[in-house]
Amino acid sequence: MFGLIGHLTSLAHAQSVARDLGYEEYADQGLDFWCMAPPQIVDDITVKSITGQIIQGKYVESCFLPEMLSPSRIKSATRKIVNAMVHAQKNGIDITALGGFSSIIFERFNLSKIRQVRNIELEIRRFTTGNTHTAYIICRQVEQASQKHGIDLSNATVTICGATGDIGSAVCRWLNVRTDVKDLIFVARNQDNLKELQANLGRGKILPIEEALPLSDVVVWVASMPKGMQIDTTSLKQPCVLIDGGYPKNMSTLVQEPDVHVINGGIVEHSLDIDWKIMQIVAMSAPARQLFACFAESMLLEFEGWHTNFSWGRNQITVENMDKIGEVSVKHGFKPLIA
Ligand code: NDP
Repeated sequence: MFGLIGHLTSLAHAQSVARDLGYEEYADQGLDFWCMAPPQIVDDITVKSITGQIIQGKYVESCFLPEMLSPSRIKSATRKIVNAMVHAQKNGIDITALGGFSSIIFERFNLSKIRQVRNIELEIRRFTTGNTHTAYIICRQVEQASQKHGIDLSNATVTICGATGDIGSAVCRWLNVRTDVKDLIFVARNQDNLKELQANLGRGKILPIEEALPLSDVVVWVASMPKGMQIDTTSLKQPCVLIDGGYPKNMSTLVQEPDVHVINGGIVEHSLDIDWKIMQIVAMSAPARQLFACFAESMLLEFEGWHTNFSWGRNQITVENMDKIGEVSVKHGFKPLIA
């Protein structure tokens, strides 16, 4: 059985979802209440592959919210993630994806040192960040969306905002060796990490986002920001493709320029309907078929019987593993969303 650990994008989002699901007692509560709420399994899932294979899974709501990343709430944030993992393991789930901020918190606060939680010893091999599949899907979105909108990668500049992160660095490595992209621009805050990435790849410019945007034909947004940022869309080239892979979204600007195309980054569409309710909550346009690529990774590992932490640690995703997960993604009927 596969599992998905997820969370909502803000307190307001959590309150409105609780109301929609009929949990009135949660709907009127503030952040203190959500800090106390235990993880819950809120969906049972059945997925059919285009090969005909059928698998079962469960969705674990961690009750983490990005507002808990403030210094005074960090203990709640880390507790949420560990408790959700324990809950998944106790429910016999073989391979569970840590969605959105779950894996970021796990790494940032070094939660791997917590192995014993009450009477449960956490078995790390049962968990995957899902980031290898996410990085693979974002790279395919870069290739396919560029082609669709008349951008020739061999003449194009691609900016990666969040380039030194787990997903961002994998995207940079892939674009470097699997495409003929002309120029890469790296954006993040820590300059030492950016210089290390640049040295490893032997190419690429380091610029602040405001300077990078007017030079870019494609922008990949994979920064771990608790809230989306405003950008000046009038400074963008046309055509331009913006692939927003952040959860919550990295961009909060509504784009009005006719030849600037915003793509829901790191999202796959399955070829067959999935029997679940959960994707309605995160406002996918086709909730029966569209999902986060990290969640799809745990489904792929279950389909293939690879009950192992396929994506783990930080900045260790290899192009070869992206190829490997990409192959089974196609085999089972998942496609990158480029509409
Ligand atoms: P990491 O924490 O590994 O990396 C985050 C990157 O963002 C780093 O390069 C960091 O560098 C940079 N960053 C953070 N804040 C800013 C900022 N204000 N301005 C510029 N750069 C910034 O995160 P992941 O790679 O694991 O995840 C990235 C995003 O992808 C997250 O939003 C996550 O929720 C989302 N995600 C989406 C999935 C999907 O299936 N679609 C799956 C998993 C994650 P620095 O700190 O130096 O600035």
